[in-house]
Amino acid sequence: MPGMSFAGALFVYFVLWLIFLAILWARELVRVRNNSWHLSNSRLFHCDNCHHSFLSKEPVNLTRCPRCNSICIYRKRRNLE
Ligand SMILES: [Zn+2]
Repeated sequence: MPGMSFAGALFVYFVLWLIFLAILWARELVRVRNNSWHLSNSRLFHCDNCHHSFLSKEPVNLTRCPRCNSICIYRKRRNLE
């Protein structure tokens, strides 16, 4: 670039790199926030028949197992709290 010293060009290069890294960092933060897990103990079911664990979409106490179709009852587990 005409009229710019080597130090000035180097400074512009580093500033552009910092802006690029800040954009990538902000994009990663948004991506992690959108794809983060929101687990809840009230929605985690375990089938006693086939030992399949699954998440229910609604916070219900009774649902059917997606693998064997048996009725699963949510039990509060005191040792997990
Ligand atoms: Zn099952």
